[in-house]
Formats: sequence, C-alpha cells, structure tokens
Amino acid sequence: MKEEVLLSSKLAGIHKTHLAFHEIVTQKIARAKIHSQIVGLLLINIDNFQSINIHLGYHIGEKLLLKMQERLTSCLNSDDFITRIDNGEFVIIMGDIKESEIKKTKNTIKNLMECFNEIYNLDGIDTKISASIGIAYYPHAGADTQTLLQSANISMSHAKSLGGNNYQYHTGTLNKKYKKKSSLEHALKFAVEKQELFLNYQPIFNLKTRKMLGMEALLRWKNPLFGLISPNIFIPLAEENGLITSIGEWSLKNICKQAKEWYTAGYDEFKIYFNISSYQLFQKSFPKFMMRLFKNAHIPPHLLDLELTETAFITKSSYFENILKKISDAGISITIDDFGTGHSSLTRLKHLPITGLKIDKLFISDMRPDSFDAIIVNSLIALGKKLSMNVIAEGIETEAHLQFLIANGCPQGQGYYLCKPLNADQMTSFLKKNNKRCV
Ligand code: C2E
Ligand code: CA
Ligand code: CA
Repeated sequence: MKEEVLLSSKLAGIHKTHLAFHEIVTQKIARAKIHSQIVGLLLINIDNFQSINIHLGYHIGEKLLLKMQERLTSCLNSDDFITRIDNGEFVIIMGDIKESEIKKTKNTIKNLMECFNEIYNLDGIDTKISASIGIAYYPHAGADTQTLLQSANISMSHAKSLGGNNYQYHTGTLNKKYKKKSSLEHALKFAVEKQELFLNYQPIFNLKTRKMLGMEALLRWKNPLFGLISPNIFIPLAEENGLITSIGEWSLKNICKQAKEWYTAGYDEFKIYFNISSYQLFQKSFPKFMMRLFKNAHIPPHLLDLELTETAFITKSSYFENILKKISDAGISITIDDFGTGHSSLTRLKHLPITGLKIDKLFISDMRPDSFDAIIVNSLIALGKKLSMNVIAEGIETEAHLQFLIANGCPQGQGYYLCKPLNADQMTSFLKKNNKRCV
C-alpha cells in the first residue's frame, strides 16, 4: 500500500541519515511506559521543497535545509531529538512529557511554526517557505516507532491536503479516513488491468427541438470490494498519485473505439464531448497521443470536443496556450466545463481558442425565478452568446429548469430530466430509436 511504501522509504531514509533515531524512540517509549508519560513524534515536511531545488538549485536547497535545522533545533529542549530524513523532511522526537505538560509541547509546536514565518537569505536570495507538520503522540497514536511514524505521516498528509502551512494532530477518524483512501488508491492501481473501468454516455440536446446534438463520455469504476465509485472521488485521487495518465489514456482509447463503431454504423451527426484532466493535458506526450488516436480511428475532428474544467484555465502559461492551439488547429473544439465556478480571467479566455461554455449544474439545481442563481445562469448564457460560443447547461433535472433555460435562450443542455448517462448498449439502442428523450 502507498502509505506502507512511503513509510518504508522514510524509514530507509532514517536508517541512512541517523541510525540513532530508532534507538532514541525505543528508549523514550520504554521510559514513557514505566513513568506513564507521553512521547511526541513530529514530521515536518517543507511545502513545495522540490520547486526550491528546481528554481534556485540543489545547492541552495541544501543550504536552506541546514539553516532550517539550526532554527528548528533552537526551538527545542536539550533532550529533544531532531534529524533530517527525506529531502525536505525532518523528524523530531520529544520525550519525557507528563500528561500535565502537554500544553508545553503545544507551545513548542507553535514556535516551530514560527521558524517558517521568517525570511531565509540564501546566497543573497530572500526565500520564504512554509511547512506541513504531522504530530503523533505515544501511546494514543501508536505503541512503536513504525506506527507512530505512520500516524505522523497521515497527519502531515492531512496538513498538506489542507493547503500546507499548518500542523495537524493524529486522530482515530483521520486514521480511518486515510486507511480507506489508501485502500482505494491501491485498488485503483489495478482498475485498468482488471477491466473495472467502463464508460457511460449522456446525450446533449437542442433544448428547443429536443434533437440530440452530442453526448458526453463519462468514466465509471466498479470494484468488487468498493462497488461503484464516483469519478468525483477516483479522478482527484488519480490526479494526486499520477494514475490519471494511464486511466485517462484508457478512457480516451475506449471513447475512440466506441465513437468509431457508431460513426461507421452511420451515426455521424453528433459530437462526442470528452473530459480531460489538466494534469493529463500537461503531460508532454499527451497531445501527440491524443491526435494519433483520433487519426487512427478516422473520426472527423469536428465531431470531437475536449472539455476542460474552468480551474485549468487559471494556469497562465504559453505551454498551455500552445497545446490548446494545437488541438484547435487539428479541428477539435474546446469547451470550458463547470463554467462559473472557477476564477478564470475573462480577458484571457477571449484570446484562447474556446468554442463553448458548460454552465455548471450547481447554478441550475438551485435556480428559481428571480433567484440569484437564475440571474447568474441568464448572464452566463448572454456572455457565451456575445462571445459567439456554444452554451450548454448541465444538470437539468425538472421541467421548470428546462423552460427557464429555453426562455432565456440557452441553446443546448443535458440532465437527468432529459436523459441519464447510458451505457454503450443503451446508447446504441437509443441511437437506433432516434428518440428525443429517453426517460
Ligand atoms: P462533469 O464533467 O461536470 O460531468 C457531469 C456530471 O454531472 C456527471 O457526473 C453526470 O453524471 C452528472 N449529471 C448529469 N446530469 C445530471 C443531473 O441532472 N443532475 C445531477 N446532479 N448530475 C447530473 P459523473 O459522471 O459522476 O462525473 C463526475 C465528474 O467526473 C465529471 O463532472 C468529470 O469532471 C469527471 N469525469 C468523468 N469522466 C471523466 C473522464 O473520462 N476523464 C476525466 N478527466 N474526468 C472525468
Ligand atoms: Ca464534463
Ligand atoms: Ca460539468
């Protein structure tokens, strides 16, 4: 499991850098056992340390770690122990703590955090850094070194997931949450190989005529142990641990295969919208991989539309702009997904080759006449039209939603009220019947 792999590499790091670490923790735990005391294990991980190494150089990174250790040590009691383990990571052991003295350790932790508020001058370069700290106490969070370190690691990861620059104590709930997450992650590694992934397709209609104009491909994961897991859970997980590349490639390959099947059967009047994670888009090999796939499938590019969430557009880089241009030059249209929820700059969007906006379902679901959401939806439709973009509303769940959107000139939409996502066979029957609505 990932936690275990991480942990064993941390322990290996400890062996290499400080053999005394194990001995000290074991001694402190043994003493604490006799005197009914507490041992604190703190794992300090510098946020974005890798980017310091990359942007300022490894020698600067090394200088920073040395200064850091000096400052952290100055906050500790003489019998506390600190050592460096991983690159950009320290571990501290505080022993001989009486239950009544636990408040004192809280002060020490606050002082340690203060070290990160200071500016570090390294070879004339002022650098400001932050860290995520995970704290685990013996006996509450573990009775041996390995468990304590694992608990501190879980709390540190939690601190990081909250944006870094904070500290978190280990708790039972946190433990359960991370254990479940790491089991899911483990299962996800084999999802492609074990053929647990499949695709659903949700029709997109012309709202006035109810004619189907396109469909969105939506990935599904069914695991024997966990059942059907929402992509809202497994896609972010895959983005976090890098599995998104293989999962995204599987998804795209199978969308192409299916699209080719429908296209050669004569269903050639609708677009296929596919979701691409921005993590995947930034993979150097991705644009070529995608183009080759579409070319080999002989699907006319104008029948393809790449959906990217609005948050992807916050990244301002010429690399990103070049990729979008390449995709657009190849004839594939680009739609901004979940529009209205991100913080993209409108002036920037104007200069990118975007052809459509998808209004996020969050706005549609709470939309009542004259409500704030109704005003937003109305404005987003108008904005899209003014920019000559296609506008698609998602999450249409009621007749009232549909009527409001038609009255406000929204050209296209999708939602459970019109049709739920269908599996490939259901979609084939739907295409054969050429229905305008399926539920
Ligand atoms: P999304 O791109 O915003 O997709 C629309 C989501 O809304 C889908 O959820 C769809 O099933 C759901 N939906 C459709 N109609 C309604 C409705 O009337 N009401 C409500 N409440 N929901 C509706 P789903 O399939 O669970 O997908 C969740 C998200 O996972 C997607 O959100 C997309 O961001 C991501 N995702 C799905 N497939 C892929 C994929 O192949 N690659 C990547 N990178 N992300 C994917
Ligand atoms: Ca989408
Ligand atoms: Ca969406």
